[in-house]
Amino acid sequence: MAAETFAFQAELAQLMGLIINTFYSNKDVFLRELVSNASDALDKIRYESLTDPSKLDSEKDLFIRIRADKANKVLELRDSGIGMTKADLVNNLGTIARSGTKAFMEALAGGADISMIGQFGVGFYAAYLVADNVQVITKHNDDEQYIWESAAGGTFTIQRDTTNEPLGRGTLIRLFMKDDQLEYLEEAKIREIIKKHSEFISYPIQLVVTKEVEKEIDDDEAEADKKKKTKKVKETTTEIEELNKTKPLWTRNPEDITNDEYAAFYKSISNDWEEHAAVKHFSVEGQLEFRAILFVPKRAPFDMFEQKKKRNNIKLYVRRVFIMDDCDELIPEYLSFVKGIVDSEDLPLNISREMLQQNKILKVIKKNLVKKCIDMFQEIAEDKEAFAKFYEAFAKNIKLGIHEDAQNRAKLADLLRYYSTKSGEETTSLKDYVTRMPEKQKDIYYITGESKAAVENAPFLEALKKRGYEVLFLVDPIDEYAVQQLKEYDGKKLVSVTKEGLELDEDEEEKKRIEEDKAAFEPLCQEIKAVLGDKVEKVVVSHRIVDSPCVLVTGQYGWSANMERIMRAQALRDASMSLYMASKKTMEINPHNGIVKALKAKFDADKNDKTVKDLTQLMFETALLASGFSLDDPAVFAQRIHRMIKLGLAIDDDEPIEEISTSRGAAASAADELPPLEEVDASASRMEEVD
Ligand code: ADP
Ligand code: MG
Repeated sequence: MAAETFAFQAELAQLMGLIINTFYSNKDVFLRELVSNASDALDKIRYESLTDPSKLDSEKDLFIRIRADKANKVLELRDSGIGMTKADLVNNLGTIARSGTKAFMEALAGGADISMIGQFGVGFYAAYLVADNVQVITKHNDDEQYIWESAAGGTFTIQRDTTNEPLGRGTLIRLFMKDDQLEYLEEAKIREIIKKHSEFISYPIQLVVTKEVEKEIDDDEAEADKKKKTKKVKETTTEIEELNKTKPLWTRNPEDITNDEYAAFYKSISNDWEEHAAVKHFSVEGQLEFRAILFVPKRAPFDMFEQKKKRNNIKLYVRRVFIMDDCDELIPEYLSFVKGIVDSEDLPLNISREMLQQNKILKVIKKNLVKKCIDMFQEIAEDKEAFAKFYEAFAKNIKLGIHEDAQNRAKLADLLRYYSTKSGEETTSLKDYVTRMPEKQKDIYYITGESKAAVENAPFLEALKKRGYEVLFLVDPIDEYAVQQLKEYDGKKLVSVTKEGLELDEDEEEKKRIEEDKAAFEPLCQEIKAVLGDKVEKVVVSHRIVDSPCVLVTGQYGWSANMERIMRAQALRDASMSLYMASKKTMEINPHNGIVKALKAKFDADKNDKTVKDLTQLMFETALLASGFSLDDPAVFAQRIHRMIKLGLAIDDDEPIEEISTSRGAAASAADELPPLEEVDASASRMEEVD
């Protein structure tokens, strides 16, 4: 039967070209990747056999076997795993795009190391680091034996395999080695790489070794003599040597395990090229019994918050038998970056996914894992530098946890770090914040915004700074969500300084002054409200600000300016979202500010003074910006400012305000100048659609 030819998916073809042609010195990684795929395939068949033992009939032993054929410059790696059907071959090895392909090429261009390949889900192609032609011979229980072959170059072929020995079940990868990569055919080299990278694979990795032995045989020619003679000849025999004899790491006593062993184990289960940042190895005994090892990686994966991605990275074992590595019930989503294994003594071996969802044992295991993870994070926090790295990589996960995990919220809150009005160059924990609180201060204050720079000089901070109260800068979009759930820390309320109802402990004298101010400025408040109309909910006198004339605050339970910004950005990305919750703004004016006082005097003199109205608008628009909102109509704002500039420069120009064109008008006229759609080059517009 003729071979069918397929084209590699474009990015994969590009990646293979890169792997084949670029000079990399670190090529050992190819073996680790192929062994890891073999191990995955063995995991799959073992799992299937738990519910249907007959699946192993095609080959009872589960193993990985490596054979080097120096004469033909071929390295073979065989497994008795699940194998691939023809459809699997087409889909898994070449035609279906993987999100990691492009990400990996970008990473490489940015200086990443080739050994990172496994993390991006394209480890198989590392074979082309050492081989210029690769065959994949494979037999799945549900299909015939097939042979996949490619010398890169953009295509591969698949055909029924009638030439190789029948595999029974599993996959044989045959690498035709490049002439300068023949060292990988040396037994010593193979032993060394397996020891280094694949020691903790939980199936035997066998190396077929050839030995020359001297043997004595009968010497026929000498038979004429009375005495029987023998002669010595050399003979080669093959033997199977097992390269990984260590027992599962988690069954050993933590005290006897070195960090290097943990690192090697971590790398083998995670595909990571770097060692772990932290590890927790523990066992739980009593009503329920399990052992676990949990690892925190040094970095976040490139696709951590990608929707389709496999959710968790904890491998579930039952009494040393691998069950699955994508069990959703094992660890919450916010901890999906934690890697490790759990080995339960209590779960039944033939547990199905449906059973897992209801399973009480699993619930208890999950609770324990979460607790141990948080313990581990707290241990990292004891080392400032290590924690800074951890926090940079995983702060979003911690905050997601605060949002989702009510039970552990308080503990997770201990891990938060923020810049603040008093933190200087370093960040502060909530705990440290509390120790700095003046005796009078009851609440914990925070401001949300786009960046530290955007909030650190906000007018909202003025009164608090004056009182010596510290304000935390919450400048990650997810902070808005987390803080809504957190609500308090150590019995102290978390209070937004940009929202209504900010109560600063005023003494009697202060309270009296505020009441007086309120009475005196009430008419001005009404005038301003009349000028601004629907743009503000109300206008009130405030002591929140010290230097600025006014600020815009939002409702206690509504969106902050920052939240409005975040939602706008999301609405742009996702058309199905609308801005129905847009913040209701209250303008708070500062009765001690010169501008406000002067405005009051002007209004008192002439309510209908156009300039005064214009200045009121300008004050409002400036407050929008200073309070972290965006302008609906920047053009009008710009024109008002230009009028002020002209005034400052004493340019006499009577252009009446009413004639100022709105930005909407400006946009419409700009659109008129564009060429009509038909005239646009059709091919050019199609090019853009591809994006
Ligand atoms: P990943 O292992 O991250 O999925 P790879 O590029 O290493 O990515 O492998 C691609 C896919 O090819 C695997 O997901 C698997 O479906 C299939 N595959 C590779 N090697 C084997 C094997 N030895 N046995 C069965 N399937 C395999
Ligand atoms: Mg792989």
